[in-house]
Amino acid sequence: MQEQIPEAARQVLKEFVESGKGIVSLHHAIVDFTDWPWWYQEVIGGKFYIKAEPGHPASGAKGNIELVVKPKSNHPIVRGIPEMHLVDEPYRNMWIRPDVQVILETDHPLANRQVAWVSPYEKSRVAYIQLGHDHQTHLYPAYRSLIRNAVQWAGGRLK
Ligand SMILES: [Zn+2]
Repeated sequence: MQEQIPEAARQVLKEFVESGKGIVSLHHAIVDFTDWPWWYQEVIGGKFYIKAEPGHPASGAKGNIELVVKPKSNHPIVRGIPEMHLVDEPYRNMWIRPDVQVILETDHPLANRQVAWVSPYEKSRVAYIQLGHDHQTHLYPAYRSLIRNAVQWAGGRLK
């Protein structure tokens, strides 16, 4: 949850991503580097607003919520992933690029509908997965499969 990133680290991260190496961003990492528009707009495709800003309300989070999360595409990351019944910490009022490819979604009223997505960023493979607050999700078998798929896909090993 580091909103700021030092200049030297920006350059390293930008070189990494622009060289085609993939990113899997998980849960709280949507707060990372949100002082860097290129990162959250172009690469990740979403932003969690710690506080309200002109034109956008503060985002919110609430823990220990029972969530039903459904795959929403035949993207390789969610191939074979069943509907999941989790206890996790959903976020709401995130800003999400309208052209991300949504791969998981929920109808829960305390959550953004888009639970996981693939960014339209073209130079590397980038996925964001909102789930994963604590052990309740980390030990959930389908979540573990989801993360494995995402890492393999981001690394170009799952097509
Ligand atoms: Zn959390």
